Amino acid sequence: MKVAVIGAGAAGLVSGREFRDAGHDVRLFEQGKRLGGIWAYESQVEDDLLGLSPTTPIYSSIYDNLRTNLPTDLMAFMDYPFDEDGGGRSDWPRYPPHSCVLTYLENFARNFELESLITFESKVESVESEQAGQSWRVSTSQGEIVHFDVVAVCNGHFSKPRLLQIEGAEKFTGPRIHSHNYRRPDAFAGQRVAVIGTGASGADIVQEVARHAKEVIWCGFEEPSPRRSVWCLPLPDRIDATHLYFTDPGQSVAVDSILYCTGYEYQMPFLDDALVQVQDNFVTPLYRDIVAPAWTRLGLIGLPFLVVPFPLYAMQAKWFAAVVDGRIQLPSADEMLALAQAEKQALRNAGVKQRHLHRLGERQEDYYNALARDCGEPLLPLWFSELAREAQESRQRNPAGFRDEPLSIPRHKPLAG
Ligand code: FAD
Repeated sequence: MKVAVIGAGAAGLVSGREFRDAGHDVRLFEQGKRLGGIWAYESQVEDDLLGLSPTTPIYSSIYDNLRTNLPTDLMAFMDYPFDEDGGGRSDWPRYPPHSCVLTYLENFARNFELESLITFESKVESVESEQAGQSWRVSTSQGEIVHFDVVAVCNGHFSKPRLLQIEGAEKFTGPRIHSHNYRRPDAFAGQRVAVIGTGASGADIVQEVARHAKEVIWCGFEEPSPRRSVWCLPLPDRIDATHLYFTDPGQSVAVDSILYCTGYEYQMPFLDDALVQVQDNFVTPLYRDIVAPAWTRLGLIGLPFLVVPFPLYAMQAKWFAAVVDGRIQLPSADEMLALAQAEKQALRNAGVKQRHLHRLGERQEDYYNALARDCGEPLLPLWFSELAREAQESRQRNPAGFRDEPLSIPRHKPLAG
């Protein structure tokens, strides 16, 4: 079959490999000049620092000093380690800088002969169903129109900034920057900086900005902390030209810049709403978070977040390829829809916000194993779960220094089993 893969990041590369190895005729479309997706660091930033309507969008959201927040032995594709047996080096730190991840992905593409499958600077602009989803008409920015039997959407979801609306924020006269356009902490030297958002990026960026700024006001906490060089406060209720205003604890704070670490949104502008929709950052309807019940030759690889992405994406790609080849028999479209709805409703009933429905966290092991069982593949090994747990505890215990703290579990070599 002819398979189109949209994107040459980690998800696209592993999907391309999976389908090619299953004997299909694969093409990867990549809008950028390089493979690697988010890991292809770009030092320049957009003209709209909030990233909402830049003249020339920049894809990557990573910053200069970024080191991985997962140890490489966890991060790696299961059969391609981050050392000399795979695409890395054993003298790299266990939490290496972003450039090492790009090298690893470039080596992955080279080693598995994927580069020749990629068409660069070719942005997919539309994917339309033909013959009720038995075939797909793919149009690109290069003016190509190509017909495929299968489409794997691997377009990433850390590039379109999500902005928290705060009353009056547009009146602020200093710079307002989304973390998508944050690159270096020295840009904030001597400033009072408000950082909004307490997720993974917020936690990392606060640490490095605090080393240069005069003061950091970190907003998004339930309980305010005493005033120090990093001062934790709730979200502001209001912002004006120069100040953030807090009803609780009833004060105002002057700042020079506002840095939004408020996350990203899914976007699939090339897909018609009749196929799948993004509703409050939840992509629906999808069975197993991969295929739409009515369009099982269209697969979305890489949607789950708060996961160990590379091995999970590899299993999703394996599952999707097995569905396409008929090695996995899916329930009927109506049954898949009902199952997907029931699963999401149970999460909603348990208090999960709609925009967090793709957040797997603790559920990632069950999710991975469900796909593995369908495919007849080995379940997640014990070492993996144990290392994931220890890495998470270490990150929570020491957010500023976990990357340089040794883990008690020795570095794992995936090929050793
Ligand atoms: P991406 O890497 O985003 O790749 C998507 C690709 O699709 C891009 O190359 C893009 O140009 C292309 N594309 C998009 N739309 C189109 C189109 N219409 N046509 C053609 N091409 C298109 N993960 C870890 O494992 N460890 C970490 O330490 C870690 N740190 C992170 C830190 C930050 C700040 C962020 C934002 C993410 C981090 N991640 C980390 C998660 C990271 O996103 C995943 O590791 C992974 O790289 C995502 O791969 P992907 O292929 O799904 O998406």
